[in-house]
Amino acid sequence: MANATLSSFIQAQLADLKAKGLYNTIEPLESANGPVIRMGGRTFVNLSSNNYLGLATDKRLVDAAVQATIRFGVGSGAVRTINGTLTLHVDLEEKLAAFKGTEAAVAYPSGFNCNMAAISAVMGDGDAILSDELNHASIIDGCRLTKAKVIRYAHSDMDDLREKAREARESGQYAKIMIITDGVFSMDGDIAKLPEIVDIAETYDLITYVDDAHGSGVLGGGAGTVKHFGLQERVDLQIGTLSKAVGVVGGYVACSQTIADWLKARSRPFLFSTSLPPGAVAASIAAIDRLQESRELQDRLWSNARYLQNGLRELGFSIGSTATPITPCMIGDEDVTQRFSAMLHEQGVYAKAIVFPTVPKGTGRIRNMPTAEHTPEMLDQALAAYEKTGRALGMIG
Ligand SMILES: *Cc1c(COP(=O)(O)O)cnc(C)c1O
Repeated sequence: MANATLSSFIQAQLADLKAKGLYNTIEPLESANGPVIRMGGRTFVNLSSNNYLGLATDKRLVDAAVQATIRFGVGSGAVRTINGTLTLHVDLEEKLAAFKGTEAAVAYPSGFNCNMAAISAVMGDGDAILSDELNHASIIDGCRLTKAKVIRYAHSDMDDLREKAREARESGQYAKIMIITDGVFSMDGDIAKLPEIVDIAETYDLITYVDDAHGSGVLGGGAGTVKHFGLQERVDLQIGTLSKAVGVVGGYVACSQTIADWLKARSRPFLFSTSLPPGAVAASIAAIDRLQESRELQDRLWSNARYLQNGLRELGFSIGSTATPITPCMIGDEDVTQRFSAMLHEQGVYAKAIVFPTVPKGTGRIRNMPTAEHTPEMLDQALAAYEKTGRALGMIG
């Protein structure tokens, strides 16, 4: 029996979430998270995974994971600084640095972990962090772990950023100032204005930090948003995840050797959380090799994304400001968005409604994530379901 005060507190909070329609039920998958999934005994075209390139089930990655597991076991046995660093971890970090075009990289158990680790290792009391208002939850939490002053700027608003950077610098109050942004914003699919951001950073002597979880494997030939803009020399810390396009699990910080040495000496998840399991490391190495050998998967991802996006536009839907494969179909009202998603579901298309408070009120949308593995038939099935649902709800003619 849980503590009675705690139970009644939680029951009241849960009732409140349910009353506001914010309580999420979780349906387990009965299959791999591929282009088609099974749930509750039914089959769906899957437009909800971050498995952009289909690498989660790629045979070469699976084989690499199996071989490494047989050789090194399922777990690494310790944190990185005790004796949980296998030669495999070092190989992965060297490969990631070469792929990103940085001197070094440091791997962590997850992308979320990287933001817990890196922000608080480099920023502290007496510093300031300029943070885009739409930054990912893990960036917000990473900032909270520091004693730095957090200054939010309006989403991708370069005038606001420049003004706040100037004020912070001219105040003379802060020893170090950092700009932190997502590379690709996950709810809209828009790309951060990195060329302007690094200009502002250089004008006011700011540290630059880009969390590129959704850009890695997708933009810049797979190396991400910073490479896409050719800014490898001008960004101090790049966060990547091994859990999305790379298809496995884990995260990394790509940076200079000096920063990497500091992260390995001081960042808390590196010191106090068990390192990535051998199978995940070997599969990630195989994924990076594959991305460097050929752009075939990225090309297929982009051509599927264009197909879905053009199809939705031709039906009369808005897909907002996306510049990446992330494809929001803008609906508006929260209840209508939920109904829309439920109707897609009934037609065998799994695409999630995203509503307030994840996105601003009145901007509810269905978030679609096409992947390299979808066939034209699967995307046509999705578009047919969109057409039928849009008509039934009177949204398109
Ligand atoms: C998904 C995501 C993360 C978390 O990465 P995981 O590897 O899943 O922990 C961090 N930052 C951003 C911007 C993300 O989109």
